[in-house]
Amino acid sequence: MTNNKSKIINVISNYNTSSQMTSKLLIDKLNKKGFVVPTKYDDNAELNICVGGDGAFLRAVHKYKFTDIPFIGINTGHLGFFQEILPENIDTFIDKYINGDYLVEKVLLVESKVCTKENCFHLFGVNEIVIKGIQSKVVHLEIFIDGNHLEKFCGDGIIVSTPAGSTAYNFSSGGSIVYPSLNTLQITPLSPISSRAYRSLPNSAIVPGEVTITIKPEYRYENSILIIVDGFEYKYDDIVEVNFTIPERTISKLNFDKDMYWNNLKSKFL
Ligand code: NAP
Repeated sequence: MTNNKSKIINVISNYNTSSQMTSKLLIDKLNKKGFVVPTKYDDNAELNICVGGDGAFLRAVHKYKFTDIPFIGINTGHLGFFQEILPENIDTFIDKYINGDYLVEKVLLVESKVCTKENCFHLFGVNEIVIKGIQSKVVHLEIFIDGNHLEKFCGDGIIVSTPAGSTAYNFSSGGSIVYPSLNTLQITPLSPISSRAYRSLPNSAIVPGEVTITIKPEYRYENSILIIVDGFEYKYDDIVEVNFTIPERTISKLNFDKDMYWNNLKSKFL
């Protein structure tokens, strides 16, 4: 581990050829400006630069355990909604970074407390936490908001999305786009069944960040559900209930352009 705290920058890259080439170029330019880029991830760094797409960013956040070190992304991926900088703009980015010409944005997360008959486990997500059936089975879930029964849901599953994740799986599933700074969670159904047999809400609901969303699998289905956090699957036996909240913990991202969100939306979704 390096001791010179102020000038250390971690460069975290996926294994794509374009990301590897961009990282090499980036490290060279950072070194020339006097920054130290360690070969192994350094907890004392002042910045994490993630090279790749949104998937690479999500993997880095999970791998480094929702670190306090702020992130900025260089997009070599498909979409790169989280990845603000284009490889051709690396020089401008470094100059702006040195001049402090950026804002630090907090990214709200979602936490789920998964309680089985034996124990409780905490999971954190940047985009969303999804409850789905194993082996493509229909899930049967009771949904409560702050203890108030909302519905008995039947369908493919439920997404609980953060504002930052609202443009991801949530959006593909008919959920609304929510501006990232809004303190909310969104409950979005996946193929809800609405028939004489079952009645599930067909659309998403956006709830204030202070509430607790509780999802209880019907007792016959307590071993039939999967929990998917930002694309990572978890399976627990004998799930009694899953509580969703917005945790105090956040991650930080640098923002070099205050209009970036709206430009991104237009250029990447329309
Ligand atoms: P993945 O292949 O890593 O990602 C799927 C797509 O979602 C990629 O194009 C990715 O962008 C994009 N994406 C990720 N976060 C986003 C965000 N906040 N806003 C807009 N687009 C975003 O898939 P994965 O490993 O299974 O899971 C990672 C994420 O993919 C999940 O958190 C989930 O939100 C999303 N996902 C979407 C669907 C769907 O839309 N039907 C299904 C499963 C998962 P890049 O190309 O830049 O990586």
